[in-house]
Amino acid sequence: MVETQTAVFPPIRKTQVTILQFNIGRLCNQACQHCHVDSSPKKSGAEDNAPPALIDEVLDFLRSNPKVGTIDITGGAPELNEGFRRLVEGARALGRKVLVRHNITVQFEPGMADLPEFFKQNQVELFCSLPCYSAENVDKQRGRGVFELSIQGLKNLNAVGFGMKGSGLDLHLVYNPIGANLPPAQEELEPTYHAELDQQFGIQFNNLLTITNQPIHRFRDWLLRSKNYETYMDLLRENYNPSTLAAVMCRNALSLRWDGRLFDCDFNLVKDLAMVGPEGQELSLSDLDLMDNLAIQVDDHCFACTAGAGSSCGGALVV
Ligand code: SF4
Ligand code: SF4
Repeated sequence: MVETQTAVFPPIRKTQVTILQFNIGRLCNQACQHCHVDSSPKKSGAEDNAPPALIDEVLDFLRSNPKVGTIDITGGAPELNEGFRRLVEGARALGRKVLVRHNITVQFEPGMADLPEFFKQNQVELFCSLPCYSAENVDKQRGRGVFELSIQGLKNLNAVGFGMKGSGLDLHLVYNPIGANLPPAQEELEPTYHAELDQQFGIQFNNLLTITNQPIHRFRDWLLRSKNYETYMDLLRENYNPSTLAAVMCRNALSLRWDGRLFDCDFNLVKDLAMVGPEGQELSLSDLDLMDNLAIQVDDHCFACTAGAGSSCGGALVV
């Protein structure tokens, strides 16, 4: 898999935008060690979470742009935003595919017990983080007690049909490495996850997606503190795989932040690297017609998307 090394990330351009990823806010019931968004229960203020007017704007955008067929809702724990359910129902009413990045444990927050049923009613596709099938490793990365709650939450999702054969309700699990390593091969790890979760807990799911940790924000702080930053960046560069470039998620997606600003991806969103148009002007949702073939804002962190088999919100890019 190791290909040519390169010091500077190559220029890439947008294709047709078909996915709107909406980071609805940084409020989360967890505060994971690797979180690139710096989410936590403390991020409850208006400056960190989308207001109702932005939900309306997103629904208007979907209504007038039928080629954007998918909305991918993330956070934080997006379910904690009071506009979340209105957004999901509105997008489904417009015929859009709705993906939700669901951290599982949010089901146990007040007023959230009916989430599995809500997801089922709206035929949402779920992407749930579970960085290991052992309690020790999950609790180390995501906080004490998270594994036990995650297992119970996954059982709740299975009980309404998510991840079960023939149900049409997709439940994907997301793996990210613990420490300064690349993820193992997705196709090799997936059977182990299926076997362990089935044998230990009777849990079913569809696919396992492997994601490379981005060297930004909380994970970057950890790399610096543990003196692993340079080694990790070298690892990403040494494993640069140009065949992943065609599939990096910024090519056909937009990432909208809770404050209404627009980015090429969720990582640029965190780095404040906004999308700019041909004249150098910052772009907004109303500028979709300027985005075809637009230069993407790239930087060193992009090497996390192109190392080894590549990485995106949908897992490995070349398998
Ligand atoms: S659950 Fe997700 S959004 Fe929340 S702190 Fe963990 S990684 Fe960040
Ligand atoms: S970090 Fe974002 S902009 Fe860079 S390659 Fe990955 S998806 Fe594209």
